[in-house]
Amino acid sequence: MASTPARVEHVIGGKRSQGESSPTHAVINPATGQQIAQVEMESMRAVESAVAAAYEAFPAWAATPVGDRCQVMFKYKSVLEQHFEELAGMIVQEHGKTMAEARGDVRRGIDCVEFACCAPTLLMGRTLPQIAVSSSFCRTEDKSGVGIDSTVDRVPLGVCVGITPFNFPVMVPLWMWPMAVACGNTFILKPSEKVPLSAVREVELAHEAGLPAGVLNLVTGGPKVVDALITHEDVRAVSFVGSSKVAKHVYETASKAGKRAQCMGGAKNYMVIMPDANRGAVIEGVVGSAFGNSGQRCLAGSVAIAVGDAAEWFVPAMMEAVNKIKVAAGNEPGVGMGPVIDVASKQRILGFIESGVQDGATLAVDGRRADCPAQGCFVGPTIFDHVRPGMRIADEEIFGPVLSVMREDTLDAAIATLNRSRYGNMGVIFTSSGYSARRFKSHAQAGMIGINVGVPAPMAVFPFAGWKQSFYGDLHANGEDAVKFYTESKVVVTRWM
Ligand code: NAD
Repeated sequence: MASTPARVEHVIGGKRSQGESSPTHAVINPATGQQIAQVEMESMRAVESAVAAAYEAFPAWAATPVGDRCQVMFKYKSVLEQHFEELAGMIVQEHGKTMAEARGDVRRGIDCVEFACCAPTLLMGRTLPQIAVSSSFCRTEDKSGVGIDSTVDRVPLGVCVGITPFNFPVMVPLWMWPMAVACGNTFILKPSEKVPLSAVREVELAHEAGLPAGVLNLVTGGPKVVDALITHEDVRAVSFVGSSKVAKHVYETASKAGKRAQCMGGAKNYMVIMPDANRGAVIEGVVGSAFGNSGQRCLAGSVAIAVGDAAEWFVPAMMEAVNKIKVAAGNEPGVGMGPVIDVASKQRILGFIESGVQDGATLAVDGRRADCPAQGCFVGPTIFDHVRPGMRIADEEIFGPVLSVMREDTLDAAIATLNRSRYGNMGVIFTSSGYSARRFKSHAQAGMIGINVGVPAPMAVFPFAGWKQSFYGDLHANGEDAVKFYTESKVVVTRWM
């Protein structure tokens, strides 16, 4: 008889713990469809214990010199390097990424830890001496010794919460908690119930690196746990990454409860292909953007707008390139694309393909007929041509390996199509014209722009800068925005008699 898969434990106060009997979610290996673990979805006891542990740990951690806090981050960076392959292997197992993509997930996460090591510089306040003269105590003509000075310090907030999606199991949590913790906050991570194993390991390794108990906690769960965390009276700030519908809900609920919130949402990303573009760079860039991570990226290029006669060479070359992609489990040799996350995702993506056919788009490459393993959640790379605005495949986030090709006569028409989207995460142009690139950069309504770059993912020192329904809040993740998000400013006005 098959044994029950292990239950993923919470990590609270530096220790692994079970919550209470609550409904569970089955964690599967998407390449096989087999269950590998189960997670508790509704443990309110875990929520209360985690908030209590983080609340209790806050005063001592906030009082720890920032240089000492960063020593833990330096150590953590080296621990992550030692466990690099282990973490990447866990991502392949629970998410289905190819090994190369999983390594990228861990590497970009480590970048965030390195950035958090810069906290002493990033947290420096500002000073303006002699903003006024204290005239009542000034008995001499020389006023320089009786002035009033002003400074602004950046101080931590308290308990912060992070809720993360399935598609970057190691990196997205690392967007949040290393900077929050380096700034002197304590943290509760609520990872996606679909990929909790690598997140638990990430948190455990932080304790191996010397993070004191209670500074970083992890609670598994679903919507009820999220709602309890983001409205808890002892929580000060909420970072969220996931779909736009949930991002809006989390932003509104957390804000109403008086929390600071930054909520990254979904996307529909357009790539403009100009006739003068370098063809090799276009095909390499668009294949990577549309089909990398099986299209499950918020920076996935989902629509290619071919301008002028570009479609004449672009579409056949894309078909040829895509037909060469090997679709298989992420750890197979020569694999180009792994499975999608679960059966529900596969069904949703197949529904989009069917809607494209029904709406009259031309199915140039049919991923339903691709040579894919029979077991597991596989959908082959799919290309639609002659897609028009108003079709679901042109307007909605698919989050799967489906590329829609649209055609426009001019660059301005292509930009207008991009700007009609309710999302604004990314816009990309492939061109050899500085004029076209500059015009695109100036007029495309998206927070992240790629010029001859298919996935313009900002490095950790820059903000992850989605617009419109791709982001709810004011300060983005990463970069200086993150430092401001995880700290409060305190202005001090000083007068000495
Ligand atoms: P999701 O919105 O389903 O889940 C994200 C998190 O929210 C999970 O931890 C989940 O448990 C929780 N959640 C789900 N439903 C909830 C509800 N009703 N109330 C409260 N919490 C809830 O997203 P996903 O499917 O895990 O991830 C894919 C989505 O994330 C895509 O839309 C993608 O574009 C987006 N994403 C955005 C960014 C970005 O930076 N903008 C980055 C990565 C992924």
